Amino acid sequence: MVIVMGQDATSGDVEAVVAVVEAAGVEAFVSRGVQRTIVGLVGDVSQLGSVNLRGMRGVADAVRITTPHKLVSRDNHPDRSTVHVGGVPIGPGSVTLIAGPCAVETHQQTLDAARMAQAAGATLLRGGAFKPRTSPYAFQGLGEAGLKILAEVREETGLPVVTEVVDAHDVALVASYADMLQVGTRNAQNFALLQAVGEAGKPVMLKRGMSATIEEWLMAAEYIAQRGNLDIVLCERGIRTFETATRNTLDVSAVPVAQRLSHLPVIVDPSHSGGRRDLVLPLTRAAIAVGADGVIIDVHPNPAQALCDGPQALVDGDLEELAQVLRTLPQALGRTLVGDVLAV
Ligand code: PEP
Ligand code: MN
Repeated sequence: MVIVMGQDATSGDVEAVVAVVEAAGVEAFVSRGVQRTIVGLVGDVSQLGSVNLRGMRGVADAVRITTPHKLVSRDNHPDRSTVHVGGVPIGPGSVTLIAGPCAVETHQQTLDAARMAQAAGATLLRGGAFKPRTSPYAFQGLGEAGLKILAEVREETGLPVVTEVVDAHDVALVASYADMLQVGTRNAQNFALLQAVGEAGKPVMLKRGMSATIEEWLMAAEYIAQRGNLDIVLCERGIRTFETATRNTLDVSAVPVAQRLSHLPVIVDPSHSGGRRDLVLPLTRAAIAVGADGVIIDVHPNPAQALCDGPQALVDGDLEELAQVLRTLPQALGRTLVGDVLAV
């Protein structure tokens, strides 16, 4: 860390900063420039705890040099990682399609959605049994009954299951059925949940908080990694902006930025970003083009009757178009689709 002193900082101000830093067991090196004085800090700066260096008299700025998210950072792990989910890879050089219903409603609906997804090229099945709904009156998911349906549909289709866990107390239960645990945008800074999934022994898909900066997103991933689990896939799912035409604004640039900062795979959720069926394919193309390692897409056999997020679910003809995109675009960009596209 480097403390940049203001142009009118006195030597007393500099000495006060040095005293605070040294009291915390961190070494301070003072460089007096022509215009400004800079204090370089060497050692474990976390020992400074809650000391507000920026608030001290004469301090213009305090800049961290080493990355705060060490385990997920490329500083310590230059090569990008591949995460395997039930044997299916998500990582550099390829595109993985995760698809299925927003919520598990019935066995038949989940099976139909899974088969539609598989035909379009999906190698992983998504589906929520525990739903984090904004309204307490909305369908909250089937809970364990939904997890059982997902496990049955996995048997029938061979697709490993990605499903959300919303509460730290449910992690062991969800992990006993799921191949990958999803942490949703509303829980992206639920630190107890992040720590619990870090200990669950299953890969984790971490969605970006809807108002989280990329750094906050990576720090959330660090909570999981710090508990010993590095099988984390980051998911950009759109952020809150002033725009109301879309459910969220897909932050396309977050994909290469996160990939540059972190070795973890980064996927995109075009369904929850746009929130509209007609935007899913254009946003999927954008995601693949910008370098996403996969996409997660809502699919429903009868969106008009869906208990959750029907307006953004793909159906019938949409899936043929999706299959077409997956057959051609990754290849054109020198990448491969994980698995086969069955649909013609
Ligand atoms: C979901 O994937 O069903 C979901 C709730 O997503 P998000 O957390 O991104 O809103
Ligand atoms: Mn949803």
